[in-house]
Amino acid sequence: MKKPRFGLQARFLLAMLIATAVVCALLAVLLMRQAGMQREVGVLGRDAVHQMATDGLTRRGEVMAQQFADAVTNPLYYSDLGAIGALARGIDRQPDVSYVLVYDAEGRIVHDGSDDISAYGRPMTDPLAARAVAAEGLLTQWSPQVMDVTQSISLGGQRLGGVRIGYSLADIHAEEQHAAGLLQDRLLQLGRRHTGWLAALLLALAGVCLFAIWYVQRTLVSPIRLLADSARAIGTGNYDGKPLTSQRRDEVGELVRAFADMRDSVARHSHDVRRMAYTDSLTGLTNRLAFRESLDHRLLMLHGSGRQLALLFADIDDFKRVNDSLGHEAGDEVLVQVAGRIRDAVERLGGDDSLVARFGGDEFVILIQNGDVRTAAARLGERLVQELGKPLAVQGREVSLGTSIGITLFPEDASAASALMKNGDVAMYQAKVAGKNCYRFYSRAMNQAVERRMHLEQELRGAWDRGELSVVYQPIYRVADRRLVGAEALLRWQHPSLGAVAPSVFIDVAEQSGLIETIGPLALREACAAAAGWPGEAEGREPLFVSVNVSPRQLRKGDLADLVAATLHETGLPAPCLHLELTETAVIADEAHASALLARLHRTGVKVWLDDFGTGFSGLSHLRRVPVDGVKIDRSFIADVLRDPDDLALTTAIIAMAHSLGITVVAEGVEKEGQLQLLLERGCDLAQGFWLGYPLGAEEFAQLLRGDGGMQSQSS
Ligand code: C2E
Ligand code: MG
Ligand code: MG
Repeated sequence: MKKPRFGLQARFLLAMLIATAVVCALLAVLLMRQAGMQREVGVLGRDAVHQMATDGLTRRGEVMAQQFADAVTNPLYYSDLGAIGALARGIDRQPDVSYVLVYDAEGRIVHDGSDDISAYGRPMTDPLAARAVAAEGLLTQWSPQVMDVTQSISLGGQRLGGVRIGYSLADIHAEEQHAAGLLQDRLLQLGRRHTGWLAALLLALAGVCLFAIWYVQRTLVSPIRLLADSARAIGTGNYDGKPLTSQRRDEVGELVRAFADMRDSVARHSHDVRRMAYTDSLTGLTNRLAFRESLDHRLLMLHGSGRQLALLFADIDDFKRVNDSLGHEAGDEVLVQVAGRIRDAVERLGGDDSLVARFGGDEFVILIQNGDVRTAAARLGERLVQELGKPLAVQGREVSLGTSIGITLFPEDASAASALMKNGDVAMYQAKVAGKNCYRFYSRAMNQAVERRMHLEQELRGAWDRGELSVVYQPIYRVADRRLVGAEALLRWQHPSLGAVAPSVFIDVAEQSGLIETIGPLALREACAAAAGWPGEAEGREPLFVSVNVSPRQLRKGDLADLVAATLHETGLPAPCLHLELTETAVIADEAHASALLARLHRTGVKVWLDDFGTGFSGLSHLRRVPVDGVKIDRSFIADVLRDPDDLALTTAIIAMAHSLGITVVAEGVEKEGQLQLLLERGCDLAQGFWLGYPLGAEEFAQLLRGDGGMQSQSS
């Protein structure tokens, strides 16, 4: 950001300049006024001096002229030139008298104070003479050079003449000049002093201005600039700018301190946010976001350097089971312990530049970068499988979990971060498919298989809503009288381009991806709704049951009993008409959990069957401990029951054992009449299979029911 062009300081400077200019102008006016005054005082002074001098001279001249006239009256009358001359010379001797004249009634000179009186008898010709001769009494006249005082002389009413004394004005002029000079000097001195004061005043003013500018700069402008700089820095995420402290006790100090507090708290907040954004709160490991950033950065550095990097994607096997059976707190505890073990192993085997991150859920990603990464990754993978396979102590229990690890290498497998991440996922997935609790390196062939699966998963996601999934019903008969007693609900997927996808394939995908948790309840609901519409006691026949498959995942979720109760309530199907098929392996694997679940299911009134019985080799003894209502002998045994004595023995044993416990036995996959015959002989209760009836759409099945309760013909 630019600095403000017309900032506070500039404005203040301008204000100061204007103020100074005004003060200067005022001072100039003052100085001008002072000069004018000096001039006026000079003129007035000169006038006063002049007045004083002329007044004095006039008074003296008039007194002198009157005395002289009095003294000379008699000698004039008697024409005593000697006496007149003596008197005239007495006056003429005075320093400023320039002439003395005594004249007769006609204006002719009688005496001029000289010894020879050379002008005797001549008329006076000077410019002042005419008025002097004409004057009666006293007359004072002025010419530039002289002051002429005339006093006429009369005796007994007769005019005798007069006297004139001419005073030289040169002295007065000189005196005046002198006085004026003195005054001027004084005034000049005064003026200089005055100007000096004004200059000092101006200087002081300039000083005050400078000080004010400095003060404003220091107390206002620079703190504001500092705050603005800081704010700008904060805006760009830099919180470590200049230190913000102030000892001042005024508002600016308060502002600076408040700002500093704000910066600290923003910095703290931002730090917290960053930490939160970049670490996994549960395990304290780097999170996905930070890992991704770091990976991008490292790949950028490694490009073209010939150096390698390996990513290990570790996913805990069946982690969900911990959450479902022991609760989320236990799940969190497991994650923390697993994170610790991974960290330890990576510290020992991963090298300095390694990085461990949790990607959410039970997925951890490890990056190693040192030396021969393929060997190092294999060693680390092995160690991780080994370490994470050791039992964990969680809430006083021992929990054993496996971990599947996928490994991908840069630049062999891919050079872009996103591709590497995908490869790691694919490899990890493959480790799961390979039986879990192992590690697998990524290979391109692997990718295709996984991609197909991922594609299926994607397609399956909206399949129910698009109407591609449907439920078919395979009839189940009572072996003894071959009457139709119920049906197994089986899912079908008709994909628009892939065609019919085998249930064994898509059910597995749904199971692995968790989609079964949404599809399963929908299938259950549909089957129950259909079964509720089947003819029952009201139509004078034995009510039919529908048996619905429940996936291990649905079983683990824990809300199955509630779901079943709600579905029954919603569809109006009587509880005894619903049978649930749980797979043997799922139930046996978690006996304690399963017993509780079965008890809850029983309370809803439904029946529970163990599906695919015999394939899990859990042993018949388990049947005693898990309270089920029936077992379905897996079709692989039935298929060979006619040829293989072992299968026959096992089938016979299952039937006997089940009957001894009072539970129903259902045979699956009856494809030949002989098989059914054999099952009849051994006392098997119910049977289903292609020989008895293929799975039918809801409509066809309803039609079958309307036809008769008996057995479908083999050809149908
Ligand atoms: P399952 O529960 O054991 O179902 C019986 C399977 O045997 C069905 O295969 C059925 O079509 C087949 N079958 C019946 N009679 C014969 C026969 O005479 N010969 C032969 N060779 N096969 C016969 P399907 O429909 O392919 O289903 C395969 C598996 O998919 C089922 O095995 C079940 O585990 C699962 N599945 C199907 N529908 C659902 C569902 O709605 N939910 C869940 N969770 N799983 C389902
Ligand atoms: Mg089944
Ligand atoms: Mg089965």
